[in-house]
Amino acid sequence: MYLPILWFLFLQLCFALTVPKKPSSDVIKPAVDPAKSLERKSYRSRYWSCTACCAGLSTLFPGKVKYFNDTVYAEQQQSYWSQQQQQTYPVCRFTPAEAREVSAAIHLVRATQCRFAVKSGGHASFEGGSNIQNGLAIDLSGLSALKLSNDSSILCVGPGNRWEDVYAFLDPLDLSVVGGRNGDVGVGGLTLGGGISYFSGFYGWALDNVANYEVIIANGSIVNASLTSHPDLYFALRGGGNNFGIITRFDFETFPHGDMWGGQIFYPFSTNQSQFEAFYWWAENANLDANGALILAAASVPGYGSFFSNGFVYAWPVMSPPLFDNFTAITNFSSTARLTRLPDLVAELTGSQPPGFRQVYITATFKNDIQMMSDIFKIWNDAVQPIFEDIAGFVPALAFQPITAKIIENFSKNGGNALGISPEDGSLTLWNMDFQWSDRRNDSIVLDMIQNIIAEGNAVAKSCGLFHRYIYQNYAYITQDVFAGYGEENKARLLRI
Ligand SMILES: Cc1cc2nc3c(=O)[nH]c(=O)nc-3n(C[C@H](O)[C@H](O)[C@H](O)COP(=O)(O)OP(=O)(O)OC[C@H]3O[C@@H](n4cnc5c(N)ncnc54)[C@H](O)[C@@H]3O)c2cc1C
Repeated sequence: MYLPILWFLFLQLCFALTVPKKPSSDVIKPAVDPAKSLERKSYRSRYWSCTACCAGLSTLFPGKVKYFNDTVYAEQQQSYWSQQQQQTYPVCRFTPAEAREVSAAIHLVRATQCRFAVKSGGHASFEGGSNIQNGLAIDLSGLSALKLSNDSSILCVGPGNRWEDVYAFLDPLDLSVVGGRNGDVGVGGLTLGGGISYFSGFYGWALDNVANYEVIIANGSIVNASLTSHPDLYFALRGGGNNFGIITRFDFETFPHGDMWGGQIFYPFSTNQSQFEAFYWWAENANLDANGALILAAASVPGYGSFFSNGFVYAWPVMSPPLFDNFTAITNFSSTARLTRLPDLVAELTGSQPPGFRQVYITATFKNDIQMMSDIFKIWNDAVQPIFEDIAGFVPALAFQPITAKIIENFSKNGGNALGISPEDGSLTLWNMDFQWSDRRNDSIVLDMIQNIIAEGNAVAKSCGLFHRYIYQNYAYITQDVFAGYGEENKARLLRI
């Protein structure tokens, strides 16, 4: 329906593009060194093609395109989690409210050759993860529908929702879905890359629990991808990230859920060896009771020092479930563990991971092993402690998370996902680091350090025969080759699709 208008606009815009004018300040004020950002030819042409695209969208959808001088633009910029993304400035931000508006945007970006980024909850931390300098940012926050099927088995979720919205909707109905553990994270990115949940021990990751995706594909068509409709696309969307289209609706399988147990338990650093032994036992025996979830994390925080801050959750209202006995035996110095509901647990984590700082995530995988955990902990600790005091606002964290045999079993649900992990791999440990700091002048020190730690950890894992190629997309740094980590066969299949 939009095609004739788009074609007309395209011709107009082509004409406009042949007579470039200097951007006037009421159109855009690129905030990062405008002279530099426009001096390179590729940047200049990108800027003009996106100015044209934004103008076209503005004509088609009045009020839904915002520029730098608008308060909505500013608010949406602030809704990214990391400072790097907040300080990346698109020519304009477009906020569609329906799938067909996203489709129209795709037609227009193709016509104008404007580069674009897609944002759901904005938690990708590196610059360009879901924002784009001098491009078009498609902000999905307007696609915020939540609708339960008549038999309550499927929840249709718009990608404008964050997990706290989803749980707030389902909790009063004693239902849940497999989703994020931090309420502020978006449904879109978490689900497309994997989605480690408090319920993964039993149901697998979020992507294993999506029955259907409504997708805008590269030619602008709106299609549904499921086991029976576009099954290849359905495979690709379970791990393919944002490479196969823009998802305008996720249909999640629901399950009954009510009271539960969980919280954060804090331990001194000196308990490190017992922590790793307890983790190993937990991961190897998780099949005995798949209702538990575990994150083992070491962190150093200015003013508080260094400690372990472990997240323990049990899907049922059982105080100190036996599955966690080995951790209970370690002396802690503080605990928030309690009987509670999911929205409360999720809010606890949201509060502990505030937005607005410089951030970097990075990750790798190894075969579950106590000595390997110990080696990685030492590499991390030796690297961060000497400079901990010198970097303003520096909060380095190292986390270990189990990919248990039962989780891996779920990866073959619905024809199998694209992650390239199979039961033959045995139980795996995903390790990731999140470094937070406040001054951009320290970027290169922090970014070099985190990449060196991962390289050193991987080298040790390889030398011990414990390395696994998998790289979790949702924690990966921009330089990591996520799709090579899926294995040759899956990478080739994704490329074919
Ligand atoms: C504080 C914090 C807590 C976290 N907790 C968890 C956790 O509990 N479990 C877990 O597994 N991971 C977790 N993560 C990692 C998280 O899953 C990723 O950062 C994820 O990419 C965030 O999704 P988002 O929608 O918020 O981010 P965005 O930055 O909006 O999107 C991330 C990527 O997905 C793409 N994308 C988003 N929506 C769509 C869509 N509808 N169609 C096409 N592409 C889309 C974007 O273009 C971008 O490439 C956490 C991260 C942070 C920073």
